[in-house]
Amino acid sequence: MTTYDFDLFVIGGGSAGVRLGRISAGHGARVAVAEERFWGGTCVNVGCVPKKIMVNAAEYGAWAEDAAAFGWNLENHGHDWGRLAAARDAEVARLSGIYGKLLAGAGVTSFDARATFIDAHTLDVGGQRVTAERIVIATGGTPHRLDIPGQELALVSDDLFTLKALPRRSLVIGAGYIAVEFATILRGLGGEVELVYRAPTPLRGFDEDIRTAAVEALVGQGMVLNPDASPVRIGKVEDHLMVTLSNSGIREADAVFFCTGRTANTQGLGLDKAGVRTDAAGAVIVDDDHRTSIPHIYAIGDVIDRVNLTPMATAVGHALADTLFGNNPRRANYENVATAVFMSPPIATVGLTETDAARIGPVDIYVSRFTPLRHTISKREGRKALMKLVVCQRTQKVLGAHMLGEDSAEIMQGIGIAIGMGATKQDFDRTIGIHPTAAEEFVTLRTRTREAGVAQAAQ
Ligand code: NDP
Repeated sequence: MTTYDFDLFVIGGGSAGVRLGRISAGHGARVAVAEERFWGGTCVNVGCVPKKIMVNAAEYGAWAEDAAAFGWNLENHGHDWGRLAAARDAEVARLSGIYGKLLAGAGVTSFDARATFIDAHTLDVGGQRVTAERIVIATGGTPHRLDIPGQELALVSDDLFTLKALPRRSLVIGAGYIAVEFATILRGLGGEVELVYRAPTPLRGFDEDIRTAAVEALVGQGMVLNPDASPVRIGKVEDHLMVTLSNSGIREADAVFFCTGRTANTQGLGLDKAGVRTDAAGAVIVDDDHRTSIPHIYAIGDVIDRVNLTPMATAVGHALADTLFGNNPRRANYENVATAVFMSPPIATVGLTETDAARIGPVDIYVSRFTPLRHTISKREGRKALMKLVVCQRTQKVLGAHMLGEDSAEIMQGIGIAIGMGATKQDFDRTIGIHPTAAEEFVTLRTRTREAGVAQAAQ
């Protein structure tokens, strides 16, 4: 019988890989994890965690201004980027360290090295040959740059976390999660911000009402939006950048950020030597059990480009560990995953959009748009909340919940549980609200705003 150095080798020490490695070792497997850059991966080091700290920082400026309406007499002496960066970096270092310790504590062998395939059971790990019975690719993704002249002059999301100062004028390309979150940070900390995106509305894939409300919120914060446009060239003039747009516009900026999606980290991994197949964009192709084209090699997390969210990656890593080594075969559920965009105010959503639900059958739509109590006093622009339920007409099950408004991410987690359990509109209605909150609106949406999908169903 062939003997391997490890039962499981995980390439990548991010959210997915660390959870998988730790739980597998807990089940008694001999596990190794290799990480070439930083433990904790994108989320901890150049993603969710430092981003959220900076979003929090960005909120304080406006809150300090709001405070006057509540009787506070505060003086704002401006923002200290260096102090924020130091606090952020200390927290990131602490969390990254915890990830490393979690593995050691679980008895996992860690390699601070790049691992590449030599063949389907053998890896080169920082110059050392290591064999494993099963191998899991959990190498994540990397920011994508547009292939235009001068692209090297632009920054990507990783770079926000090493900037020494706030750029005075930023041009953010794209209008997905990262673009609007970065725009929120840069604007909230005092910069001038323009967004350039190729669609008429930002945040493709989100509910249309939310997208429209997002435009209002972004403009309300003083951002300039350039829809239906893409950059075609970036040039440097003295100490600033000039960006030519597809609609012939020219924009001047001190920093340009490509927030134009992410690409799976599969280049140079030697996947061809192992026979692992990827799609045209480079993401590893897997089946519903996360098995690649080679049965003992799996892939999880952003490298498969399915639902690119940390909690999804950890859930999948955990389920795979239980399946392979815990005598508990199971799959993580990709349905009804709640998610948030940390713009200001944040967006949170779970389940189907109105458009997607209406494709399946007739739906009742409930929408509420209102100014939260805090802002009837503060009078701050762009703070209106929007809450929306998409309800199946036949079963009365709530198929989707969407919110743009303060605390939406905190609220949506609980709504996600209800929707996952198949709650009906009547279940929402008989729930007593917490008063006075914005959240109570989800259980007091009495009057149907409209129906949708009726015509499609009739066809
Ligand atoms: P997204 O896919 O969300 O957005 C990419 C943006 O880039 C879109 O506006 C897209 O336009 C635009 N774009 C892509 N290619 C081009 C092109 N060739 N020319 C012009 N514009 C282009 O990616 P992000 O990088 O923002 O985020 C990656 C993923 O990371 C997210 O999908 C999400 O899963 C995860 N994430 C989650 C966060 C959270 O949970 N809060 C935060 C950040 C990231 P179009 O829509 O027209 O295609």
